[in-house]
Amino acid sequence: KPLLKIENMSISFSSPDEPDIEAVRQVDLTLTPGKTLCLVGESGCGKSVTARAILRLLDKNAKIGSGRILFDEPGGARVDLAALKPDSTAMRAVRGNHISMIFQEPMSSLSPVHTIGDQIDEMMVIHEGLKPKQARERTVALLDQVGILGARERADAYPFQLSGGLRQRAMIAMALACTPNLLIADEPTTALDVTTQAQILDLLRQLQADYGMAMLFITHDLGVVAEIADEVAVMYLGDVVEQGSVYDVFAAPQHPYTQALMSSIPKMARKADRMRLAPIKGTVPSPKDRPQGCAFTSRCPYAFEPCSTVTPERTAVGANHHARCHLLTRAKAEVPA
Ligand code: SF4
Ligand code: MG
Repeated sequence: KPLLKIENMSISFSSPDEPDIEAVRQVDLTLTPGKTLCLVGESGCGKSVTARAILRLLDKNAKIGSGRILFDEPGGARVDLAALKPDSTAMRAVRGNHISMIFQEPMSSLSPVHTIGDQIDEMMVIHEGLKPKQARERTVALLDQVGILGARERADAYPFQLSGGLRQRAMIAMALACTPNLLIADEPTTALDVTTQAQILDLLRQLQADYGMAMLFITHDLGVVAEIADEVAVMYLGDVVEQGSVYDVFAAPQHPYTQALMSSIPKMARKADRMRLAPIKGTVPSPKDRPQGCAFTSRCPYAFEPCSTVTPERTAVGANHHARCHLLTRAKAEVPA
C-alpha cells in the first residue's frame, strides 16, 4: 500500500521580467513503506525540486502549479501536502516528524552553535513531548545505532568537531529522531570518499529494514542506484522519462536517454571504479528555452518526425514500467490488430 503518491505535479519558477520556467512537468511518483525509489538525472533536471516540493521547502519564487501530493499520515488520515501552506501547523507536523530529509552537506541541517546531542534531543522534545532526560537517552541510543562510537560523549560534540562521515551519521540520526515514515535523501553520499559512501549506504539500508520506512533517494550516480534502489525514475529537463523496477530499467532501458546513461557505465566503471553519469553528446537545453515536443530531441540519435513538435505520452512497456518516447507509441501502432 503506497505511503505517498505524487500525481501530475508541475512546478514553475517565476522571475520579474521573464516568462515562468517549468522546472517539473506532470510528474507521477509512488513511495511505498520499506522500499527505495531513486530519482536519477543530470544536475538541474528537477530531482531536488521534486523532493523539496514534498516537504514544501521550495524557494519563494517557485510554485506548485498543478497536481497533488497525497500522504497517508500514521493516524490514517490522507492529506494533500500540495494544498497545505508551507508554514502551516499541519505542514510543520509532517516536516521532520513523519517525513524528514538528509542532504549532501550536513551543515545545511545541523546548527553549528549547538551540540549534536542538544539538536537531536530538541527534535524529540518538540515533536514527541519527551522530557529532556528521556530524550537524551534516546539520542544516545540513536547515535549508537547510526554507528557513532562513544555515543554518550560524542553527543556533547559540536558539528565542527566531527569528521565528514561522522557529521553525516549525526545528520541521519537527527532525521530519524522522530522515526519518520518517509526519508528523503538528496545526494547524501556525493561528497564522501568511496569507503565512507559504502558505509553510509549500508547504514541507510539497515535502518530502512529496521524501521520499514519508505525512502526517496536522489543521485546522479548509477552505482548508488544499483546499490540501493528498488524502483528508479529517470528525469530529463523536468520530465520523468522512464520509470520502473531497478531490475527492469537496468536490464531493458526503453528511453533513449536512459539507454545513453546505461551505455556509459562499463567505460566509466573501468576508469574510475564509479558509475557516475557520463556526459552524453550535446548539452541539456536550458529550461528557459524548453524545446517543443520531446526535450531530448536535440541529443537523441533516433529523433524522427513528431519528436520536435509533439510531447510523447507516458507509455506502459511492462508491469509498472513506463517511458515517454514516440518510438514506443510507434512500435505499438505498428503491432497488427
Ligand atoms: Fe528520441 Fe523522439 Fe523518443 Fe524523444 S521521443 S527520446 S527524440 S525518439
Ligand atoms: Mg540537486
